[in-house]
This record gives sequence, structure tokens and C-alpha cells, in this order.
Amino acid sequence: MPANRIPYERYFEVSALPEPGVPMHSYAYLRRLTSDVLETAPVWDTHAHVGRDRDGRELDFIGLLRDLDDYRVNGAVIFPFNDPEQGTDFRVPNDRVWDAYRAAPERFVPFMRLNPNGPWEDEYERCRDRGHRGIKLHPRVQDFALNASAAMEIYARAATDRLPVLVHTGYGMGAASDDLAGIASKRPPSGA
Ligand SMILES: [Zn+2]
Repeated sequence: MPANRIPYERYFEVSALPEPGVPMHSYAYLRRLTSDVLETAPVWDTHAHVGRDRDGRELDFIGLLRDLDDYRVNGAVIFPFNDPEQGTDFRVPNDRVWDAYRAAPERFVPFMRLNPNGPWEDEYERCRDRGHRGIKLHPRVQDFALNASAAMEIYARAATDRLPVLVHTGYGMGAASDDLAGIASKRPPSGA
């Protein structure tokens, strides 16, 4: 090999590759990636969907609990998929998330999912009043802009009620950080 040739493995984080025989999807591999932090610190998953998705996949809370146990994760923030029974306001899948929380309240933090293009106000109040602890929004699937007026209204209500809002910014979306920074700068930090 020429002396100046960059070895192919330089392109990988070699120390993070699983050893032969260690599956990519395994606790053994995750433990190595995280330098054993899962052994020594409480770990919570802040993004877990529960129920059914229009793409045909599903994960019930029993299955999620099993995964959390397998990966030594204490608990998860849970919210609906893009559920085929979401209707106009996600009432049915929000109920599913609530039922999961009631079954394992020490393992789950229930968020509601809302559709800003639908009649979201009643569902927001229903879920807030019974104890959902935050909101999940998906701008691509529910087809709204991050700064759409209904979305802005949801952020304002959430700030008033001191509920966190989790927004999908990954697959299928362009860069969102400038938009999010613009939205955040319109609101004074709520320290109270
Ligand atoms: Zn998600």
C-alpha cells in the first residue's frame, strides 16, 4: 500500500464497531458504545412510540418494556405513532398511551400527540387535565410548518401550562434549527 494512502478503516470509528459475533442490535454492543454508562447511571429513553403506525408496524407497551429491560433502560417518554385510528385529533392513540402509562407508571412518561391541522384544542385540554406530561408534534406527517399559526398557538399553550414540546426534525425534513431558533426567540424564557 502506498505510504500516503489513507487506510479504509480510518473512515470508521473502529473502536465503535462491534466485535465479531456481537450483534449490532444487542445490549453488549450498546454497552460498549456508551462506555458502560447504562451500568452506572439511570437511563431514560426520551423518544418512544407506542401503539400502531400506518406503515403497518406496531409496538405495544409490553414489547417496549421488554426492550427497555433488555437494554437496561429505566423508562421511556411515550407517545403515539402515526396511528391509523388517529382520526382528526389522535384521541384513540392518546388513550392507548395513557393506558400504557397507567399499567406501568414508574416506567413511562406519557406525552400526547396533536394534529395542528385538526381540532386540537379539546384533545390538548383533555390530555393535559388527566396528566399527560408533554406534547409530540410531527410537522412532516401532519403536514404543517413549524411556525404555522396553529403550531405557534400550541407552543404558547404548552409554555403557559409548562409542558415540553417534542418536534420531529429528522427523516423527511430539511434543516429545522434556524426555524426553531426563530420560534424560541419570539418567546421570553419561562423561568417562572
Ligand atoms: Zn418520533
